[in-house]
Amino acid sequence: MKDIVNQIADSRTITLEQLSHLLTTDDRDTIQYLFDRAHATAQQHFGNKIFMRGLIEISNHCKNDCLYCGIRRSQKDVHRYRLTKEEILDCCEQGYALGFRTYVMQGGEDGWFTDDRMCDIVATIRQKYPDCAITLSLGERNHESYQRLFDAGANRYLLRHETADPAHYAQLHPAEMSFEHRMRCLQDLKAIGYQVGCGFMVGSPYQTVHTLLKDLQFISNLQPQMVGIGPFIPASNTPFHDRPAGSVETTLRLLSIIRLILPPVLLPATTALGTLHPRGRELGILAGANVVMPNLSPRDHRKDYSLYDNKLCTGDEAAECRVCLDRRIRTTGSELVVDRGDAPTTTCGV
Ligand code: SAM
Repeated sequence: MKDIVNQIADSRTITLEQLSHLLTTDDRDTIQYLFDRAHATAQQHFGNKIFMRGLIEISNHCKNDCLYCGIRRSQKDVHRYRLTKEEILDCCEQGYALGFRTYVMQGGEDGWFTDDRMCDIVATIRQKYPDCAITLSLGERNHESYQRLFDAGANRYLLRHETADPAHYAQLHPAEMSFEHRMRCLQDLKAIGYQVGCGFMVGSPYQTVHTLLKDLQFISNLQPQMVGIGPFIPASNTPFHDRPAGSVETTLRLLSIIRLILPPVLLPATTALGTLHPRGRELGILAGANVVMPNLSPRDHRKDYSLYDNKLCTGDEAAECRVCLDRRIRTTGSELVVDRGDAPTTTCGV
Protein backbone atom coordinates (compact mmCIF):
# COMPACT_ATOMS: atom_id res chain seq x y z
CA MET A 1 0.00 0.00 0.00
CA LYS A 2 3.00 2.28 0.44
CA ASP A 3 3.26 2.04 -3.35
CA ILE A 4 0.30 4.39 -3.63
CA VAL A 5 2.13 7.03 -1.65
CA ASN A 6 5.26 6.60 -3.76
CA GLN A 7 3.26 6.81 -6.98
CA ILE A 8 1.63 10.08 -5.88
CA ALA A 9 4.98 11.52 -4.83
CA ASP A 10 6.66 10.50 -8.09
CA SER A 11 3.87 11.56 -10.45
CA ARG A 12 2.67 14.56 -8.39
CA THR A 13 -0.86 13.61 -9.31
CA ILE A 14 -3.54 11.53 -7.66
CA THR A 15 -6.38 9.41 -9.03
CA LEU A 16 -9.86 8.99 -7.59
CA GLU A 17 -9.01 5.45 -6.47
CA GLN A 18 -5.81 6.53 -4.73
CA LEU A 19 -7.56 9.41 -2.99
CA SER A 20 -10.47 7.23 -1.86
CA HIS A 21 -8.07 4.66 -0.53
CA LEU A 22 -5.92 7.14 1.39
CA LEU A 23 -8.92 8.88 2.92
CA THR A 24 -10.62 5.69 4.07
CA THR A 25 -7.90 3.19 4.93
CA ASP A 26 -7.36 2.08 8.52
CA ASP A 27 -3.91 0.80 7.70
CA ARG A 28 -1.78 2.85 10.11
CA ASP A 29 1.49 1.85 8.40
CA THR A 30 0.35 3.34 5.11
CA ILE A 31 -0.86 6.51 6.77
CA GLN A 32 2.29 6.91 8.83
CA TYR A 33 4.30 6.45 5.65
CA LEU A 34 2.17 9.14 3.96
CA PHE A 35 2.81 11.57 6.84
CA ASP A 36 6.53 10.77 6.99
CA ARG A 37 7.04 11.14 3.26
CA ALA A 38 5.20 14.48 3.24
CA HIS A 39 7.16 15.74 6.26
CA ALA A 40 10.44 14.70 4.60
CA THR A 41 9.36 16.48 1.39
CA ALA A 42 8.72 19.70 3.33
CA GLN A 43 12.15 19.36 4.93
CA GLN A 44 13.82 18.87 1.54
CA HIS A 45 12.45 22.22 0.44
CA PHE A 46 12.49 24.24 3.65
CA GLY A 47 14.81 22.41 6.05
CA ASN A 48 13.37 22.26 9.54
CA LYS A 49 12.10 25.83 9.32
CA ILE A 50 8.55 26.71 10.21
CA PHE A 51 7.51 30.17 9.04
CA MET A 52 5.21 32.33 11.08
CA ARG A 53 2.74 34.85 9.75
CA GLY A 54 1.19 37.47 12.01
CA LEU A 55 -2.55 37.41 11.43
CA ILE A 56 -4.30 40.76 11.84
CA GLU A 57 -8.08 40.38 11.64
CA ILE A 58 -8.89 43.88 10.45
CA SER A 59 -12.70 43.68 10.27
CA ASN A 60 -15.55 41.28 10.91
CA HIS A 61 -18.04 43.30 8.86
CA CYS A 62 -18.97 41.31 5.77
CA LYS A 63 -21.34 41.89 2.88
CA ASN A 64 -21.42 38.20 2.06
CA ASP A 65 -23.65 35.51 3.48
CA CYS A 66 -21.58 32.32 3.10
CA LEU A 67 -23.67 29.59 4.69
CA TYR A 68 -20.83 28.22 6.83
CA CYS A 69 -19.35 31.41 8.20
CA GLY A 70 -19.82 32.79 11.71
CA ILE A 71 -19.39 36.41 10.57
CA ARG A 72 -21.79 36.22 7.59
CA ARG A 73 -23.94 39.31 7.19
CA SER A 74 -27.13 37.60 8.47
CA GLN A 75 -25.43 36.80 11.76
CA LYS A 76 -27.22 39.14 14.17
CA ASP A 77 -25.45 38.38 17.44
CA VAL A 78 -21.94 39.30 16.29
CA HIS A 79 -20.34 42.35 17.78
CA ARG A 80 -19.02 44.03 14.64
CA TYR A 81 -15.70 45.88 14.69
CA ARG A 82 -13.13 47.24 12.31
CA LEU A 83 -9.59 48.26 13.20
CA THR A 84 -8.33 51.77 12.56
CA LYS A 85 -5.16 52.35 10.59
CA GLU A 86 -3.42 53.19 13.88
CA GLU A 87 -4.58 49.94 15.49
CA ILE A 88 -3.30 47.98 12.50
CA LEU A 89 0.06 49.76 12.67
CA ASP A 90 0.26 49.01 16.40
CA CYS A 91 -0.26 45.32 15.62
CA CYS A 92 2.57 45.49 13.09
CA GLU A 93 4.87 47.17 15.57
CA GLN A 94 4.21 44.55 18.22
CA GLY A 95 4.56 41.82 15.63
CA TYR A 96 7.89 43.11 14.39
CA ALA A 97 9.27 43.08 17.93
CA LEU A 98 8.08 39.48 18.32
CA GLY A 99 9.94 38.44 15.16
CA PHE A 100 7.17 38.47 12.59
CA ARG A 101 8.26 39.34 9.05
CA THR A 102 4.94 38.69 7.33
CA TYR A 103 1.73 40.50 8.15
CA VAL A 104 -1.51 38.92 6.99
CA MET A 105 -4.40 41.36 6.97
CA GLN A 106 -7.60 39.36 6.84
CA GLY A 107 -11.19 40.41 7.07
CA GLY A 108 -14.74 40.07 5.90
CA GLU A 109 -15.66 41.92 2.71
CA ASP A 110 -16.06 45.28 4.37
CA GLY A 111 -16.87 48.18 2.01
CA TRP A 112 -15.32 50.63 4.48
CA PHE A 113 -11.90 49.40 3.37
CA THR A 114 -12.05 51.13 -0.02
CA ASP A 115 -9.06 50.92 -2.33
CA ASP A 116 -7.90 54.37 -1.21
CA ARG A 117 -8.03 53.45 2.48
CA MET A 118 -6.51 50.02 2.03
CA CYS A 119 -3.75 51.28 -0.29
CA ASP A 120 -2.86 53.93 2.26
CA ILE A 121 -2.54 51.27 4.98
CA VAL A 122 -0.51 48.92 2.76
CA ALA A 123 1.80 51.72 1.57
CA THR A 124 2.45 52.85 5.15
CA ILE A 125 3.34 49.32 6.28
CA ARG A 126 5.50 48.85 3.18
CA GLN A 127 7.39 52.03 3.98
CA LYS A 128 7.82 51.29 7.69
CA TYR A 129 8.72 47.62 7.26
CA PRO A 130 10.54 47.22 3.94
CA ASP A 131 11.86 43.82 5.02
CA CYS A 132 8.39 42.36 5.65
CA ALA A 133 5.97 40.63 3.33
CA ILE A 134 2.42 41.98 3.23
CA THR A 135 -0.30 39.43 2.67
CA LEU A 136 -3.92 40.36 2.10
CA SER A 137 -6.96 38.15 2.59
CA LEU A 138 -9.87 40.47 1.97
CA GLY A 139 -12.01 38.41 -0.34
CA GLU A 140 -13.18 39.21 -3.82
CA ARG A 141 -12.28 42.58 -5.34
CA ASN A 142 -11.89 43.67 -8.94
CA HIS A 143 -8.73 43.55 -11.05
CA GLU A 144 -8.05 47.25 -10.66
CA SER A 145 -8.34 47.00 -6.90
CA TYR A 146 -5.94 44.05 -6.70
CA GLN A 147 -3.54 45.90 -9.00
CA ARG A 148 -3.62 49.06 -6.88
CA LEU A 149 -2.99 47.10 -3.69
CA PHE A 150 -0.10 45.29 -5.35
CA ASP A 151 1.37 48.58 -6.55
CA ALA A 152 1.00 49.96 -3.01
CA GLY A 153 3.24 47.17 -1.74
CA ALA A 154 1.21 44.00 -1.07
CA ASN A 155 3.05 40.82 -2.06
CA ARG A 156 0.69 37.95 -1.38
CA TYR A 157 -3.05 37.28 -1.45
CA LEU A 158 -4.95 34.46 0.21
CA LEU A 159 -8.31 33.65 -1.33
CA ARG A 160 -9.52 30.16 -0.60
CA HIS A 161 -11.36 28.83 -3.62
CA GLU A 162 -13.56 26.92 -1.06
CA THR A 163 -14.41 24.17 -3.57
CA ALA A 164 -13.46 23.55 -7.19
CA ASP A 165 -16.85 22.04 -7.95
CA PRO A 166 -19.41 24.62 -9.14
CA ALA A 167 -22.43 22.66 -7.83
CA HIS A 168 -20.76 22.25 -4.43
CA TYR A 169 -19.90 25.96 -4.44
CA ALA A 170 -23.59 26.74 -4.92
CA GLN A 171 -24.46 24.55 -1.92
CA LEU A 172 -22.08 26.51 0.32
CA HIS A 173 -22.91 30.02 -0.87
CA PRO A 174 -26.00 32.10 -1.60
CA ALA A 175 -27.06 32.49 -5.24
CA GLU A 176 -25.68 36.03 -5.39
CA MET A 177 -22.12 34.68 -5.05
CA SER A 178 -20.47 33.21 -8.09
CA PHE A 179 -18.01 30.38 -8.52
CA GLU A 180 -16.83 31.90 -11.79
CA HIS A 181 -16.05 35.21 -10.13
CA ARG A 182 -14.02 33.58 -7.37
CA MET A 183 -12.01 31.69 -9.97
CA ARG A 184 -11.55 34.90 -11.97
CA CYS A 185 -10.20 36.63 -8.87
CA LEU A 186 -7.57 33.92 -8.40
CA GLN A 187 -6.52 34.19 -12.04
CA ASP A 188 -6.34 38.00 -11.78
CA LEU A 189 -4.23 37.82 -8.64
CA LYS A 190 -1.82 35.43 -10.32
CA ALA A 191 -1.60 37.50 -13.49
CA ILE A 192 -0.83 40.65 -11.48
CA GLY A 193 2.12 38.94 -9.83
CA TYR A 194 0.95 38.16 -6.30
CA GLN A 195 2.13 35.04 -4.53
CA VAL A 196 -1.28 33.42 -4.39
CA GLY A 197 -2.92 31.15 -1.83
CA CYS A 198 -6.06 29.12 -2.43
CA GLY A 199 -7.65 26.45 -0.23
CA PHE A 200 -10.75 24.86 1.18
CA MET A 201 -12.39 23.56 4.33
CA VAL A 202 -12.10 19.84 4.98
CA GLY A 203 -15.44 18.21 5.72
CA SER A 204 -17.59 21.10 4.56
CA PRO A 205 -21.23 20.08 4.05
CA TYR A 206 -21.81 18.16 0.79
CA GLN A 207 -18.08 17.61 0.23
CA THR A 208 -17.33 14.24 -1.37
CA VAL A 209 -14.25 12.43 -2.56
CA HIS A 210 -15.19 13.66 -6.06
CA THR A 211 -15.21 17.31 -5.04
CA LEU A 212 -11.95 16.79 -3.16
CA LEU A 213 -10.35 15.28 -6.24
CA LYS A 214 -11.40 18.40 -8.16
CA ASP A 215 -9.83 20.54 -5.43
CA LEU A 216 -6.55 18.68 -5.77
CA GLN A 217 -6.63 18.92 -9.56
CA PHE A 218 -7.42 22.61 -9.32
CA ILE A 219 -4.46 23.15 -6.98
CA SER A 220 -2.24 21.21 -9.37
CA ASN A 221 -3.28 23.40 -12.29
CA LEU A 222 -3.17 26.74 -10.46
CA GLN A 223 0.24 25.99 -8.87
CA PRO A 224 -0.35 28.44 -6.01
CA GLN A 225 2.48 29.40 -3.67
CA MET A 226 0.25 28.71 -0.64
CA VAL A 227 -2.63 26.37 0.15
CA GLY A 228 -4.74 26.89 3.26
CA ILE A 229 -6.85 23.95 4.38
CA GLY A 230 -8.45 23.38 7.74
CA PRO A 231 -11.41 21.43 9.07
CA PHE A 232 -14.88 22.90 8.70
CA ILE A 233 -16.19 23.71 12.19
CA PRO A 234 -19.87 24.54 12.63
CA ALA A 235 -20.76 28.06 13.72
CA SER A 236 -23.82 28.76 15.87
CA ASN A 237 -26.81 30.38 14.19
CA THR A 238 -25.58 29.63 10.68
CA PRO A 239 -27.47 27.32 8.31
CA PHE A 240 -24.79 24.69 8.95
CA HIS A 241 -24.81 25.02 12.76
CA ASP A 242 -25.78 21.36 13.24
CA ARG A 243 -23.46 19.83 10.65
CA PRO A 244 -20.60 17.68 11.89
CA ALA A 245 -17.14 19.20 12.00
CA GLY A 246 -14.54 18.03 9.52
CA SER A 247 -12.11 15.44 10.81
CA VAL A 248 -8.61 16.19 12.04
CA GLU A 249 -7.37 12.90 10.60
CA THR A 250 -8.74 13.65 7.11
CA THR A 251 -7.24 17.13 7.25
CA LEU A 252 -3.83 15.67 8.11
CA ARG A 253 -4.05 13.15 5.27
CA LEU A 254 -5.00 15.90 2.81
CA LEU A 255 -2.18 18.14 4.03
CA SER A 256 0.23 15.31 3.24
CA ILE A 257 -1.29 14.67 -0.17
CA ILE A 258 -1.06 18.37 -1.06
CA ARG A 259 2.58 18.42 0.05
CA LEU A 260 3.30 15.47 -2.25
CA ILE A 261 1.53 16.88 -5.32
CA LEU A 262 2.95 20.40 -4.82
CA PRO A 263 6.23 19.90 -2.91
CA PRO A 264 7.44 23.53 -2.55
CA VAL A 265 4.08 24.92 -1.41
CA LEU A 266 3.65 26.96 1.77
CA LEU A 267 1.19 24.99 3.83
CA PRO A 268 -0.21 26.32 7.11
CA ALA A 269 -1.14 24.19 10.09
CA THR A 270 -4.29 26.23 10.67
CA THR A 271 -6.01 27.58 13.76
CA ALA A 272 -9.03 25.40 12.91
CA LEU A 273 -6.80 22.33 13.19
CA GLY A 274 -5.53 23.60 16.55
CA THR A 275 -9.10 24.25 17.66
CA LEU A 276 -10.21 20.65 17.08
CA HIS A 277 -7.13 18.95 18.53
CA PRO A 278 -4.83 20.14 21.32
CA ARG A 279 -1.77 19.17 19.25
CA GLY A 280 -3.42 19.86 15.88
CA ARG A 281 -0.75 22.21 14.62
CA GLU A 282 2.13 19.96 15.67
CA LEU A 283 0.44 17.03 13.94
CA GLY A 284 -0.03 19.25 10.89
CA ILE A 285 3.70 19.96 10.79
CA LEU A 286 4.49 16.26 11.10
CA ALA A 287 2.15 15.70 8.15
CA GLY A 288 3.96 18.23 5.93
CA ALA A 289 2.75 21.71 6.97
CA ASN A 290 5.40 24.42 7.32
CA VAL A 291 3.58 27.62 8.31
CA VAL A 292 1.78 28.80 11.45
CA MET A 293 -0.28 31.97 11.70
CA PRO A 294 -0.47 33.26 15.27
CA ASN A 295 -2.97 35.98 16.01
CA LEU A 296 -1.63 39.54 16.19
CA SER A 297 -5.06 41.21 16.37
CA PRO A 298 -5.83 43.43 19.37
CA ARG A 299 -6.85 41.15 22.25
CA ASP A 300 -10.22 42.77 22.87
CA HIS A 301 -11.41 42.04 19.32
CA ARG A 302 -10.21 38.47 18.93
CA LYS A 303 -13.34 36.81 20.27
CA ASP A 304 -15.44 38.78 17.76
CA TYR A 305 -13.70 37.26 14.74
CA SER A 306 -15.59 34.07 15.42
CA LEU A 307 -15.68 32.24 12.10
CA TYR A 308 -16.75 29.11 13.98
CA ASP A 309 -17.52 28.02 17.54
CA ASN A 310 -14.75 27.80 20.14
CA LYS A 311 -12.13 29.31 17.81
CA LEU A 312 -8.78 29.45 19.60
CA CYS A 313 -7.95 33.01 20.47
CA THR A 314 -6.24 33.38 23.80
CA GLY A 315 -3.81 30.49 24.06
CA ASP A 316 -0.58 29.55 22.32
CA GLU A 317 -1.92 30.65 18.95
CA ALA A 318 -1.74 34.25 20.18
CA ALA A 319 1.35 36.03 18.92
CA GLU A 320 2.40 37.09 22.44
CA CYS A 321 2.78 33.44 23.27
CA ARG A 322 5.61 32.99 20.86
CA VAL A 323 7.69 31.18 23.46
CA CYS A 324 4.95 28.58 24.03
CA LEU A 325 4.53 28.14 20.30
CA ASP A 326 8.29 27.81 19.88
CA ARG A 327 8.29 25.07 22.48
CA ARG A 328 5.43 23.25 20.79
CA ILE A 329 7.08 23.41 17.37
CA ARG A 330 10.36 22.10 18.76
CA THR A 331 8.58 18.92 19.85
CA THR A 332 8.22 18.17 16.12
CA GLY A 333 11.97 18.60 15.53
CA SER A 334 11.41 21.85 13.63
CA GLU A 335 11.89 25.47 14.66
CA LEU A 336 10.13 28.78 14.20
CA VAL A 337 12.21 31.24 12.21
CA VAL A 338 12.33 35.01 11.85
CA ASP A 339 12.05 35.17 8.08
CA ARG A 340 9.65 36.42 5.40
CA GLY A 341 9.33 32.80 4.33
CA ASP A 342 8.75 33.30 0.61
CA ALA A 343 7.95 30.40 -1.65
CA PRO A 344 11.15 29.11 -3.29
CA THR A 345 11.66 31.32 -6.38
CA THR A 346 12.52 28.50 -8.74
CA THR A 347 9.02 27.18 -8.32
CA CYS A 348 7.09 30.45 -8.42
CA GLY A 349 4.62 30.27 -11.23
CA VAL A 350 4.03 34.02 -11.01
N1 SAM B 1 -13.44 37.32 3.36
C1 SAM B 1 -12.22 36.71 2.99
C2 SAM B 1 -12.47 35.56 2.03
O1 SAM B 1 -13.61 35.30 1.71
O2 SAM B 1 -11.49 34.98 1.57
C3 SAM B 1 -11.37 36.24 4.17
C4 SAM B 1 -12.09 35.92 5.44
S1 SAM B 1 -12.90 34.35 5.42
C5 SAM B 1 -13.78 34.41 6.92
C6 SAM B 1 -11.55 33.24 5.70
C7 SAM B 1 -11.81 31.77 5.59
O3 SAM B 1 -12.43 31.27 6.77
C8 SAM B 1 -12.74 31.32 4.51
O4 SAM B 1 -12.06 31.25 3.30
C9 SAM B 1 -13.25 29.97 5.01
O5 SAM B 1 -12.64 28.88 4.33
C10 SAM B 1 -12.88 29.99 6.50
N2 SAM B 1 -14.07 29.70 7.32
C11 SAM B 1 -15.21 30.40 7.37
N3 SAM B 1 -16.13 29.77 8.14
C12 SAM B 1 -15.54 28.62 8.59
C13 SAM B 1 -15.99 27.55 9.39
N4 SAM B 1 -17.22 27.51 9.88
N5 SAM B 1 -15.11 26.54 9.64
C14 SAM B 1 -13.86 26.58 9.16
N6 SAM B 1 -13.39 27.57 8.38
C15 SAM B 1 -14.22 28.59 8.08
